[in-house]
Amino acid sequence: MFLSVFDVFKIGIGPSSSHTMGPMTAAGRFLSLILSDEWPRPASARVFQLKVSLHGSLAFTGVGHATDRAVILGLTGVLPDTVDPDGMDATVETVMKSGEVCPPGHPAYRFQPATDLVLDKKTPLPGHANGMRFSALDADGRVLLSRIYYSIGGGFVVTDTELEAMQARKKAEQTASVKIPYPFSTARQMLAMASASGLSIAQMKRANEEAVLSREALNAGLDRLWEVMSGCIDRGLRVEGQLPGGLKVKRRAKAIHDKLQEEWRSNRFNPVLANDWLSVYAMAVNEENAAGGRVVTAPTNGAAGVVPASIRYYLHFHPDADQDGVRDYLLTAAAIGGIIKHNASISGAEVGCQGEVGSAAAMAAAGLAAVMGGTPEQVENAAEIALEHHLGMTCDPIAGLVQVPCIERNAVGAVKAVTAASLAIKGDGSHFVPLDACVETMRQTGSDMSEKYKETSLGGLAVNVVEC
Ligand code: SF4
Repeated sequence: MFLSVFDVFKIGIGPSSSHTMGPMTAAGRFLSLILSDEWPRPASARVFQLKVSLHGSLAFTGVGHATDRAVILGLTGVLPDTVDPDGMDATVETVMKSGEVCPPGHPAYRFQPATDLVLDKKTPLPGHANGMRFSALDADGRVLLSRIYYSIGGGFVVTDTELEAMQARKKAEQTASVKIPYPFSTARQMLAMASASGLSIAQMKRANEEAVLSREALNAGLDRLWEVMSGCIDRGLRVEGQLPGGLKVKRRAKAIHDKLQEEWRSNRFNPVLANDWLSVYAMAVNEENAAGGRVVTAPTNGAAGVVPASIRYYLHFHPDADQDGVRDYLLTAAAIGGIIKHNASISGAEVGCQGEVGSAAAMAAAGLAAVMGGTPEQVENAAEIALEHHLGMTCDPIAGLVQVPCIERNAVGAVKAVTAASLAIKGDGSHFVPLDACVETMRQTGSDMSEKYKETSLGGLAVNVVEC
């Protein structure tokens, strides 16, 4: 199995990788398909109108997760990693008023969001909880081209046929064409390869990445990831006010940060100092995410705060912290994220929040244990501790917004990740529950979990808190 560090950590926009970035990417793929020769286009056919239907979790929580906006933006030709967050509102408004989209390289297509973008809560698509159907019609309303896409978590998008092929290949190597030196797909294999090679997990992951990328490109990409993560923390610590969506949730990171700085300056003793800093960094990221700002999936948008918070914590509190350490952290975290994605899921719509914040905490714990000098066994132990204590956690965002409980959940996930790394480093790497068993438990628990608790906002906190 080979899942690049740049597949696990993707630069994009909030509030949700599966509900915002994925649909925007799917829209871009459909636009490319329209221009391609991959479909039997009748000679006189001309695409006049576009229609989109959202299904399953995308229909239930699509508005709260800004899926409708993401589709509109995607159909104008922008992509998650390059879209200007400050220009998004104006673009959406233009489409709403004009009733058409004009993506670069295409003629204008009629697209009236009120009627052409349908939230279909009654008809789930068979392949995955996050389904979308894009259709291109001629001027007489005849469907010329239709494609189903699934947003399978972390911003990944596949067509229905790609999903089938992916599932069929899953037990074999998904990317057999890429010859990588350390093709581990389980933690057990990873530890065996580390023991045989004498390399750390970060070194093996680096060797795998360098099979397809130059060292310079890999380092530049890793540095860019941290630059965006760090910029997201900083912006989240500066901005105040209310988050969008109607819940009237107040942004709190700046006020908490101001208090912490004041405490720091006046040398006041704070027995939970590290916890407070970790929490405020994570909340800053997730408030930015909720506001639709620029974030990095880690491994998803909803769980985007845990990894950056623990990296900032490492840079802040660890005396030997440096840029190489951040690179090793990211590589190690990506190795763990890849194992979890391959053997279970990182999608709240598939397995609940254990797959999002739980995976993020496991990745962060592993990254941190690695840069604290942990052996591969201690790193695996750290990931396992962090994941184990998120098992069973449901996804029940209030009003379908990635705000409550998501923002605080990232803060607590970051604290758990640091605790897990610290516990693992103090041991000798031997432990009772292997990471693979924990990942399999998460998969089984997710599969048994009621759909109410898988990003549909039909159960849990989402139905027990009165919205005012
Ligand atoms: S509850 Fe967890 S999985 Fe669900 S949207 Fe929030 S962060 Fe994501």
